Amino acid sequence: SRREEHNTDHFFKIILIGDSGVGKSNLLSRFCHNKFTLEFNSTIGVEFTTKTLIIDGKPIMAQIWDTSGHTKARPITDAYYRGATGALLVYDVSKHITFINTKKWLADLRNNADPNVVVMLVGNKLDVRQSVMVSTEVGKSFAEKESMYFVETSALRATNVENAFIDLVEKMYRSRI
Ligand code: GDP
Ligand code: MG
Repeated sequence: SRREEHNTDHFFKIILIGDSGVGKSNLLSRFCHNKFTLEFNSTIGVEFTTKTLIIDGKPIMAQIWDTSGHTKARPITDAYYRGATGALLVYDVSKHITFINTKKWLADLRNNADPNVVVMLVGNKLDVRQSVMVSTEVGKSFAEKESMYFVETSALRATNVENAFIDLVEKMYRSRI
């Protein structure tokens, strides 16, 4: 029922943040529909997707928000952050600047989302890492320093994508108890 959907024990708002082009939309479509697209900025048209996960035998409804289009043209609004208790902070392991920019995204997140927001730092495009732009060690130590969880993924190859979302929801579920 509606009532159950919005029971905070069973309903989590999760947001995808990070620079344009890092693969946020493809991580979401890989997770929710097992789809990947080579097109950049294909507009999915919806602001969020919901997916029910079973954690400890209980159905958890994850409402996952994605920004459509360029975040430069349409800045992230308060409404996007509001009520979010989980976030996937995504960078592109083959583009160092996107990793540098996670600092700004994190600051913005911590200023605007729930104070106890659980964050998963996601190094995406593991499949295109040539000459190692952002090493696993660098990503991992930044995550530890900032009390984030950490995973490296490839939306293209479907590597660790399920883990990224499911681990986050599990951590959110456990941090709530
Ligand atoms: P967003 O702006 O963060 O939502 O990024 P998109 O999901 O639109 O992806 C931007 C571009 O990167 C698209 O051309 C995707 O096909 C590509 N892309 C996304 N994830 C991966 C990945 O894991 N590996 C590779 N090689 N390309 C990816
Ligand atoms: Mg996108």
